[in-house]
Amino acid sequence: MTKSNPQPSFLAAALLTWYPRHHRDLPWRHTRDPYAIWLSEVILQQTRVAQGLPYYETFLAAYPTVQALAAAPEAEVLRYWQGLGYYSRARNMHHTAQQVVSDHNGRFPTTYAGLLQLRGVGPYTAAAIASFAFDEAVAVLDGNVYRVLARVFGLHSDIAAPSSRKEFQALADQHIPAATPADFNQAIMEFGALQCTPAKPDCLFCPLQQQCWAFQHGQVALLPVKSKAKASRTRYFHYFVLRHGEQTYLRERREKDIWQGLYDFALAETTVPELPPAELLRHLNALGASLDTSQAAEPSATYRHVLSHQKLEARFHPLALAQPLPAATLRDLGLRAYSAAEIEALPKPKLIDNYCNQNL
Ligand code: SF4
Repeated sequence: MTKSNPQPSFLAAALLTWYPRHHRDLPWRHTRDPYAIWLSEVILQQTRVAQGLPYYETFLAAYPTVQALAAAPEAEVLRYWQGLGYYSRARNMHHTAQQVVSDHNGRFPTTYAGLLQLRGVGPYTAAAIASFAFDEAVAVLDGNVYRVLARVFGLHSDIAAPSSRKEFQALADQHIPAATPADFNQAIMEFGALQCTPAKPDCLFCPLQQQCWAFQHGQVALLPVKSKAKASRTRYFHYFVLRHGEQTYLRERREKDIWQGLYDFALAETTVPELPPAELLRHLNALGASLDTSQAAEPSATYRHVLSHQKLEARFHPLALAQPLPAATLRDLGLRAYSAAEIEALPKPKLIDNYCNQNL
């Protein structure tokens, strides 16, 4: 990282004047506990502030220390995370807590370089913790910061390209004041979130209007430059909701795919929306399922869910069993019978949770 200026730059001066008058009062801004700061940053990478706030409070209440989080069962952590998506982040967070406890005696490293050694802690999170908890002058770069810098300085590099990071990081590090790095980082992110917003930034009442390259050149709407994400593919999931009496069969997803560690039903995936009846039968035979045909039910309507690079379309086939599933099927597919109360406590993808809430 470059050394920061001893004197505040025009950018730092404007942001540090703007921040105390406009910032939102958020709980993680009142702490210098690296654990609480880390928790808030991991959650806020997933979601907006309003949505993230209850998750932050829930996690901190359930696990007030990094030791408490490290000692928690993974399924419980995933259950608390439910609804935020990107479950690998929750698993990484859990592992990081264990790493802090086992390798660092329960204390977070106190430098940017040290924090970067932790699993799942990238440059953004390391910079946030290093500056907010330990006053290290290293600038954070998130979407808000990229936008502010691109507009104020007229940078046209593609912010989606990893190669742009160096350029933006060097610029931000040039402007972060050595005396108040935490305030600067908070201020520039908040300024991007509230004033220099993606659509309709408040340029009219902006303290940087005179120096802002994009405003002066009429290019506010054109900056930052961001190339489109690659097109997403659609996957079709056909779930078999196998029930015997009051028990329903679910399994933990273990494969390296979406939703690792979460629970869903026996599944057939296709590249087209329909599952032909003959295919359905073939799958049921493979499961060794003996159906109770007196309780036949229609498949559900389509449930849709959008992930970053995938669109999911799921249909659920409720199937009553005359006999429990054979032990070999349970072993081969990792299925287990659960009561409704047990299912409620399992960590599940949002799509599965929605179906269960409406149907089980
Ligand atoms: S003038 Fe507009 S575009 Fe420039 S920094 Fe201010 S709000 Fe952002």
